[in-house]
Amino acid sequence: MASGGGNYRNGTHRNSLKGTTTATDRPLSVNSNPSKPALKNKSLSSAGASASASSGLRKSSPGSLGGGGTTKDDAAVPGRVRVAVRLRPRNAEELVADADFADCVELQPEFKRLKLRKNNWDTDTYEFDEVLTEFASQKRVYEVVAKPVVESVLDGYNGTVMAYGQTGTGKTYTLGRLGEEDTADRGIIVRAMEDILADVSLETDSVSVSYLQLYMESLQDLLDPTNDNISIVEDPKSGDISLPGATLVEIRDQRSFLELLRLGEAHRYAANTRLNTESSRSHALLMVHVKRSVKGRDLAHSIQNGNTTNLAKSLRPTLVRKGKLVVVDLAGSERIDKSGSEGHTLEEAKSINLSLSALGKCINALAENSAHVPVRDSKLTRLLRDSFGGTARTSLVITIGPSPRHRGETTSTIMFGQRAMKVENMLKLKEEFDYKSLARKLDIQLDQLIMEHERKQKAFEDEIERITTHAENQISEAEQNYANAMEKERLKYQKEYMESIKKLEEKWMMNQQKHSERKDQMVSTAEEVAELKKLLSKETSIRKAAEEEVNNLKSQIAQLKMSEASANSEVLKLRKTLEDEAYRKEKLEGEISMLQTQLLQLSFEADETRRRLDRGLPGKVPGGLDSLISQARPQVNDSGNGEKASIENLFEQVGLQKILSLLEAEDADVRIHAVKVVANLAAEESNQQKIVEAGGLTSLLALLGTSKDETIHRVAAGAIANLAMNETNQELIMSEGGISLLSMTAANAEDPQTLRMVAGAIANLCGNDKLQNKLRGEGGIKALLGMVKCRHPDVLAQVARGIANFAKCESRASTQGNKTVRSLLIEDGALPWIVQNANNEASPIRRHIELALCHLAQHEVNARDMITGGALWELVRISRDCSREDIRTLAHRTLTSSPTFLAELRRLRIDY
Ligand code: ADP
Ligand code: MG
Repeated sequence: MASGGGNYRNGTHRNSLKGTTTATDRPLSVNSNPSKPALKNKSLSSAGASASASSGLRKSSPGSLGGGGTTKDDAAVPGRVRVAVRLRPRNAEELVADADFADCVELQPEFKRLKLRKNNWDTDTYEFDEVLTEFASQKRVYEVVAKPVVESVLDGYNGTVMAYGQTGTGKTYTLGRLGEEDTADRGIIVRAMEDILADVSLETDSVSVSYLQLYMESLQDLLDPTNDNISIVEDPKSGDISLPGATLVEIRDQRSFLELLRLGEAHRYAANTRLNTESSRSHALLMVHVKRSVKGRDLAHSIQNGNTTNLAKSLRPTLVRKGKLVVVDLAGSERIDKSGSEGHTLEEAKSINLSLSALGKCINALAENSAHVPVRDSKLTRLLRDSFGGTARTSLVITIGPSPRHRGETTSTIMFGQRAMKVENMLKLKEEFDYKSLARKLDIQLDQLIMEHERKQKAFEDEIERITTHAENQISEAEQNYANAMEKERLKYQKEYMESIKKLEEKWMMNQQKHSERKDQMVSTAEEVAELKKLLSKETSIRKAAEEEVNNLKSQIAQLKMSEASANSEVLKLRKTLEDEAYRKEKLEGEISMLQTQLLQLSFEADETRRRLDRGLPGKVPGGLDSLISQARPQVNDSGNGEKASIENLFEQVGLQKILSLLEAEDADVRIHAVKVVANLAAEESNQQKIVEAGGLTSLLALLGTSKDETIHRVAAGAIANLAMNETNQELIMSEGGISLLSMTAANAEDPQTLRMVAGAIANLCGNDKLQNKLRGEGGIKALLGMVKCRHPDVLAQVARGIANFAKCESRASTQGNKTVRSLLIEDGALPWIVQNANNEASPIRRHIELALCHLAQHEVNARDMITGGALWELVRISRDCSREDIRTLAHRTLTSSPTFLAELRRLRIDY
């Protein structure tokens, strides 16, 4: 903004505040050239900030694309209220009445000064933005006072042009002259509208007008007199006021505007007549709304965002600037003094002019930068809220008369003008997007598109229908063609069919003909046939004779065959008899051999009995090895008479192989006899080697496994026991699984004698030094101990013998240093049974156990177990009480040679 304006204002302010007479000497203006008079066409604004505001604002005003509505606050620029003073020429009355007096004011327009004469020798000087003499033309007044404001309005700002002054000083003359008689008389309103209409484009812009009168705080519509209480509406956000009730007439040309002004004037006159008042007491307000679309250079200037795609363009609402020009012809200011005095009631104040006095107060408050501006005190101040201290460019013309008689009124008017000059407005561009018209435009486009779409839709449907009809026609045509072709084909085939039928009929006829011809031929051959028949019957009789001959021969052959068959059956019978004979012979041979074995057995038994009788031995001695052998022999009571030689003879007669083969005979009795014979033979040491060599031992062992017969088990086990006395045989028995077979036999045996034989066999094996580990490994000791369940003394004696044999072998091995570990007997849990039976009443049992204990005790590693098992006591007992001296001695020696035993005996304080 022009800094000159600011300085200028300060100068004005100071000066006017003081209101001193000495101020005349001071340079009151800081115009670029104060000495230079105002140019003829130079407007009020050109003297200060307004000129640069007018043009500068257009360029610097920021676009509102982003902000929408109005421009931003920072777009506002200061714009002080401009005040011009206009002096009316003396009127006819004054020319007469004041003829002898000087005017109360003296104007110095080149210095924009006004000198107010206080009396003949004293004046006050005031400076204004413009000083218009009584000679100032209406055109010049318009240009300096109103034109800058009108230009601002056209640029999108609000603007106010107001006239203030005593009644009759020319307010209405300045503002409202229509200039009908003389165009030079046209006032500000008419000229402003002329400029507006010349500048706007009626295609894109609009100008509309309201015309109102404010009288006694009632706002009347001068364009519609029935509307005499228009309300003022304030936008709560922006504070902008609007008069929705006021008639708004769009102006398209000057002529219609003048019509409107005349109409308004007429209504004003009528209203004042009706209300019995005068126009000098009412305020007239003309409001001109100018709405302009911003485009071209201005628009480009306004758009800050670079987004200018086609879519954005098409959807962008038009930017509009809405300037409002308010022209106010105020009521006569002579009332103000009266209203300003105190003690008035509201009604009185109203009658005097509430609005005018409120305007004065507001101007005062604004001029003094008072915190409170009583805008709401009156309707006028509310209506002019934007004009003073608001966003509008405001130009005030104060009108004064020259008459010294009205010095007081003139002074007050001048003071009002001086205060108004201090009011600072912040001009704001009223620019916004016209969403409404965009919406309208889009609505229209949408309607057009809908119509277009509808048209296309219709055309499309028509096309579909056309195509459908066409297709249907084609289909029916094709169908027709097809039907025709079918019919044609059908007829063709029918014809062909008929023709072929006809041909067939012809053929048939021909055949018929041929057939009848053949019949004729047949009659001629009948004779021939009769002759042939004769020949045939002759031939038949010959054949019959031949057949008879054949039958005859056949019966002869059959007879021959029958005699041959009977001979064959005779042969078969003879063969059968022969076979039977052979079988019987075989059976008899078997019987013979059996009888032979029985005989052999009997002769053995007889021999044995005799032998025993010869030796003078009494009956059987249980437990002994000899008795075992004798027991192993079947007990046969009938006395035999064969000598040993005779047995051997028999033996040789029958043959060992034969006997052994009978062990596997099918007949159970044969098997039993055979095993008995073998057992008897095995009892003889001289036979044992032969039996073993012939596989007898293997067969006997096999019998233990295969046979279910306990007698066979018993006799076989006895034989095995006898064979087991030989060391070589012992190894053979072991290698052929004898231990497990014997164990199995013992487990299944019920007869104590069977167990005795088994135990005897194992006991023999126990006496073999080489077989100790193998025997024990295959469960021999366990098998022996298992048999003590049977409490039969013969069985127990064999078990004891086995244990004694085993212990003897172990002690032998330990003496030779071959054995360093604990006795396997102790390992297999024999010790408790040994201790239990050490003092058995049956002497064969007791004897064997005593020996076994002595043998075990000889090996020091067994000592600890024997002590804990109670064997020590038995040994002590044996060493003291045994009836056999050799055993007693052995026990004693054993005890005394064992440090463990000795230590234990000492511990127990047994004197030994
Ligand atoms: P106001 O509206 O202030 O009461 P008017 O405009 O009605 O005063 O003026 C009163 C009279 O003075 C009118 O007859 C008018 O023609 C005349 N008059 C006012 N100003 C001038 C002027 N500048 N030149 C000639 N006559 C004027
Ligand atoms: Mg008037």
